[in-house]
Amino acid sequence: MEITQPSGSRPGQAAHSFEHLLRPDVAGLEEYTPILPFEVLSEQLGRRPEEIVKLDANENPYGPAPAVREALTAFPFYHIYPDPEQRHLRAALSAYVGAPAEMILAGHGADELLDYLCRIFLRPGDAIINCPPTFGMYSFDAQLSSGRVVEVWRRPDFSLDVAGIEQAAAGQGVKLLFLTSPNNPDGSLLDPADLRRLLRLPLIVILDEAYIEFAGLEHSAVSWVAGHDNLVVLRTFSKWAGIAGLRLGYGIFPVWILRHLWKFKQPYNVNVAATVAGLAALAHRADLAPTIAALIAERQRLQVELARFPFLQPYPSQANFVLCRVQGREATALKLALAQAGVLVRHYAKPGLENCIRVSAGRPADTDALLAALAGV
Ligand SMILES: *Cc1c(COP(=O)(O)O)cnc(C)c1O
Repeated sequence: MEITQPSGSRPGQAAHSFEHLLRPDVAGLEEYTPILPFEVLSEQLGRRPEEIVKLDANENPYGPAPAVREALTAFPFYHIYPDPEQRHLRAALSAYVGAPAEMILAGHGADELLDYLCRIFLRPGDAIINCPPTFGMYSFDAQLSSGRVVEVWRRPDFSLDVAGIEQAAAGQGVKLLFLTSPNNPDGSLLDPADLRRLLRLPLIVILDEAYIEFAGLEHSAVSWVAGHDNLVVLRTFSKWAGIAGLRLGYGIFPVWILRHLWKFKQPYNVNVAATVAGLAALAHRADLAPTIAALIAERQRLQVELARFPFLQPYPSQANFVLCRVQGREATALKLALAQAGVLVRHYAKPGLENCIRVSAGRPADTDALLAALAGV
């Protein structure tokens, strides 16, 4: 058995006679490898979805709070278009994050807002500063907007090379700087002193806080946005609230940026189901606190237990995942062996992440299954 990409799912790969009509930068974009859908994986592994221990995408295995499922079931108006101004959602988010609703906009996942930001700032040839190893969407979206990606690599402990970023910021056409706290894939927090220094640069700082609920909201920089006209903070419901499949994210923006985003966004970008679920998750967030605490406890357990394997070297993390350097064996082979045992982890072979795996925190039984599988490889 092998984990393979489905073949033949990309029709029309031969050059087409109308292809010259495409934007050349789009025609030249590299194809990206989509993740395998859960059902397909389940088939390939010969295991039912419930039997797969999915620790490869930082999803919350507890799923949404019961109150969220109830709200989704009870909602009577799915035939009506959503509110383009997201009034209820933005009011509830305002109370959650402590920023005025005038500074908040929700999106079809934080991913949609990343794309919008690239598209409103970047003209062809303009540039972003990306700090790899990090989340892949920043460079992906910049390239979709015909932007250039200037890479300033993190240090071996994943902290930022602030002086390197300052140097890169002086380059021609550099407009956006993407930062992530906690960073994906290692889980380290951004040093507030670094952020303070970087906010003095003449560019827009986009700070992605997708995992901040696992680090503690006291580490958030949302309260800084009001005092900095060049800071945007992005958040999501995908991880802490367990609704990655519904696609709901939001951002806290300086009002001057939001004014332009309002003109730019798709009117119905956040669908009604995501809105209902998001409102219920915020109203019942006390119900979610125990699962967040359980995932944090599981991350801590993973860190201790994974370090006991001589071939794994886990990094400290403030998120719901743990990155491990694999020593003395191939991370690819390890990932495949774990998959055959029904445990999915993320594997990396990129620069800065050579021979690494990333394991999401799951339920205690998920960790048990992972540890048993690791003991067997
Ligand atoms: C998962 C993730 C996101 C995606 O958020 P969505 O709201 O699901 O689009 C954004 N940023 C980082 C760093 C992530 O890991």
